[in-house]
Amino acid sequence: MKIAPNIHIIPGVTANPYLLVDPDGLTLIDTGIPGSANKILRYIKQAGYSLRDLNRILLTHADYDHAGSLAALKKATGARVYASLYEARAVATGQFPRSLKTDNIFLKPIFALAERLGRISPAHVDEHLYDGQVLPVLNGLHVVDTKGHTPGHLSFFASSVGILFSGDSILSVNKQLVGSHGSVTWDQGKADAAVLKQLALRARIVCSGHGEVVMDGLYRLLKLAEVLAVSPVYQRL
Ligand SMILES: [Zn+2]
Repeated sequence: MKIAPNIHIIPGVTANPYLLVDPDGLTLIDTGIPGSANKILRYIKQAGYSLRDLNRILLTHADYDHAGSLAALKKATGARVYASLYEARAVATGQFPRSLKTDNIFLKPIFALAERLGRISPAHVDEHLYDGQVLPVLNGLHVVDTKGHTPGHLSFFASSVGILFSGDSILSVNKQLVGSHGSVTWDQGKADAAVLKQLALRARIVCSGHGEVVMDGLYRLLKLAEVLAVSPVYQRL
């Protein structure tokens, strides 16, 4: 499904994968839960491309629902894989990039089980990405360090079209935007700072790792910043 002329969201996959089209080939952002590879490959073929056209796979982070089909997609397409150093290490072992947090003694064993069951097939990341890098995708795709949800979380900003791919650092819920919070958040202060950093990009459209694409992105980001400004977490920054 097209968001803009060269940008697709691949429907029916958890979490949202995005396909970016350039004259020299395709770039995929995130790979969905384990078992999503066939859906993604089918979409690429139905859009009129060959699997060998997929040049790059970019990961926002190494959680099960974003990196779960990475190994299968890499095998099927031969695409080069890019992620932050920290998330690359998690992907190499197939483990969660951080522990799920809770003070509830009843939830602790459930979370420990989820971490065991949530392991993915390990995969090799070919290149590490750093804050401020600009990739040759969509006339300049900016790598933005948005650690907080996980220690090495990245977002990607296509400045030529004003579209932000925020992964799980900013989530789309009922057409509104919320920051990463709760047990899946590695560091709440850093997660809130990542939201404010992305607000400064003045994105028009926000493509999150979950939920619908938010077409009034800047307005929704401003609303989110207002919420953070009055939250106790933000006041501690
Ligand atoms: Zn997710």
